[in-house]
Amino acid sequence: MPFLATVLTLYPDMFPGPLGLSMAGRGLQDGIWSLQACDIRKHAADKHASVDDTPAGGGPGMVLKPDVLARAIDASSPQEDTRPRLLMSPRGRPLTQEFVRQLAEGDGVVIVCGRFEGVDERVIKGRNLTEVSVGDYVLSGGEPAAHIVLDAIVRLLPGIMGNRTSGNEESFEQGLLEHPQYTRPREWEGLEIPAVLLSGDHASIARWKREQSEKLTMKRRPDLIQPKDTNK
Ligand code: SAH
Repeated sequence: MPFLATVLTLYPDMFPGPLGLSMAGRGLQDGIWSLQACDIRKHAADKHASVDDTPAGGGPGMVLKPDVLARAIDASSPQEDTRPRLLMSPRGRPLTQEFVRQLAEGDGVVIVCGRFEGVDERVIKGRNLTEVSVGDYVLSGGEPAAHIVLDAIVRLLPGIMGNRTSGNEESFEQGLLEHPQYTRPREWEGLEIPAVLLSGDHASIARWKREQSEKLTMKRRPDLIQPKDTNK
């Protein structure tokens, strides 16, 4: 069975979108994964097909209605569906490579894309949604976040990256950022490729990459190395 991604959205035309091209697009064509984009609006009940309403207690914007969203979830992911259900949300657990890897090892994923001010809180619990954030900034909708989550998962699926050692040397995989990369020409605008990379000495090259990774991580993302202060 290919990895099955179900996306619930008010904008199904946004899918596959960028996921239909390049690595992920080839994977779709080859049947390594499959994608269903379900239109939340199809589950609206009134004659205006309304999916949102004003926030209880006042405040700006609109909120996605729990009944409509729950019907959309139940139609595409019945109770016996064991795939994790994610809700894209700036309040959610930050997306990490470790979590992505965990998701890629499963059978698939259900992703709910919010819009407006977000979704009614009751449906989050009622349908067991895990809130996931792609970063500390606010998007206008969950769809670009879903693209990010799926892109990160799909590149790890067996058969997508070909002969590569499944990205083990890449940023975050060893808890570090990746070392700098170079390619020909050997000299460009007066700048040389570091000599060690051209030395053919595999042990020295490996050491250099490790040192560079550590230095870069220390400088840019010390939080990845230093243990978190749990007393705070
Ligand atoms: N009022 C909400 C933001 C709503 S943004 C708040 O302050 O928390 C509208 C939708 O965009 C959200 O429901 C969510 O699905 C999506 N979204 C916005 N920023 C996101 C982020 N950083 N990560 C994941 N999804 C996000």
